[in-house]
Amino acid sequence: MSTDRIRIYKFGGASVKNAGAFRNLAEIVKVHGGKRQLLIVVSAMGKTTNALEVVMDQAYKQQDFEAAFQQIKAYHYEVLQELFPAPGSLLYHRLEKTFMLLHDDLQQLTPTADYDQAYDQVVSYGELLSSTILHHYLLDQELFNTWVDSRKYIQTDGTWREAKVDWLLTERLIKSDLPPILEEQLVVTQGFLGGTGNGLTTTLGREGSDFSAAIFAFCLDAAGMYIWKDVEGLLNADPKYFKDTVCYPEISYQETVEMAYYGASVIHPKTIKPLANKQIPLFVKSFIIPTGKGTKICDCRFDKPAPAYIIKENQCLVSFSVKDFTFISEKNLGTIFNALSEQRIKINLMQNSAISFSVCTDFNEQRLNRLIQALHDTFVIHYNTALTLFTVKNYDTESLNRVLENKEILLEQRTRTTYQFVSR
Ligand code: ASP
Ligand code: MG
Repeated sequence: MSTDRIRIYKFGGASVKNAGAFRNLAEIVKVHGGKRQLLIVVSAMGKTTNALEVVMDQAYKQQDFEAAFQQIKAYHYEVLQELFPAPGSLLYHRLEKTFMLLHDDLQQLTPTADYDQAYDQVVSYGELLSSTILHHYLLDQELFNTWVDSRKYIQTDGTWREAKVDWLLTERLIKSDLPPILEEQLVVTQGFLGGTGNGLTTTLGREGSDFSAAIFAFCLDAAGMYIWKDVEGLLNADPKYFKDTVCYPEISYQETVEMAYYGASVIHPKTIKPLANKQIPLFVKSFIIPTGKGTKICDCRFDKPAPAYIIKENQCLVSFSVKDFTFISEKNLGTIFNALSEQRIKINLMQNSAISFSVCTDFNEQRLNRLIQALHDTFVIHYNTALTLFTVKNYDTESLNRVLENKEILLEQRTRTTYQFVSR
């Protein structure tokens, strides 16, 4: 077999959220993976990552984390018991040990630890658990597979919670080990995780499993990457917020990357570049109706795709004004940008006026406090939280009317193709 037949399947939290979902996943692998060489990337089960964030935060603040910890454990055991009704297997033992390690890690946390570094060590358990269960379950279904620790392959720096990939090293490691395994059997590995040279775990950013899958796709020169989701394909809006969504049958890498940048939660923003660089098509497909057409993302052009509506919640609008009624200068802007970059606060939208400069960013209380600390001597700083950033890509009058109804706008911006506003 040649390596050009390798496919990457990525299954997110929803596709392993309960025993039924695991069964469905195995069926997809059986029917659609066929005899192909397949590498499976899996996220943490359901909302486990959110739950681990809570436990980690409690442990860090020296609060009682026992209840939240037990809840995560019970959730995993419930799924396990349904998938493997006969207890006492190797898997129960492995899981018990993993939960013990997690508990130890939590107990050892102190408020003096680097929060973001500790976060990666703790939150990564979600994927370690889900991939272990999946590995055993597929074996049980006679889908022979090897469990691969992605932390040994995706090598990163120590930018905790948003690690940067060392591409050359990662590619070398993946290329040297995985193709021979893939010729023999399936590979099951974790999304979201990476590792540093000195053996610590890193994460690639929330929802980063798509990116993990793209890294494997790139390094293995895959024939295609497939994201299995609970929607029919790539939609022009989140069905949670909009009725009458449309599914794009085919869309370009460029359009997709822009949608992801503006905050469409369909695909992690970093996913597209590695795929586009090697012209690897990305298929977004439904795990509910796997025979559906889904969306093909590739190097295609369309004159004007249907308008896309993108909503980013939990936004914060921060405005900086100079204290002495002089104008905002380029030097002031330099100071603000430097501080933002130092605190790793990303700008989603920005605007300047004569005496002030405003940025809309994701709300992160700790980072915002540090930013204010750094800049409050130089600027008067005001901010609003709990805001929403709306983006309409490829807008027209009708689509704008649709989103603007009953909105109080705090800031707006428009280019020829894109309309954005921040509202309460
Ligand atoms: N489990 C991680 C998260 O929820 C990564 C992912 O799902 O892609 O953010
Ligand atoms: Mg997820």
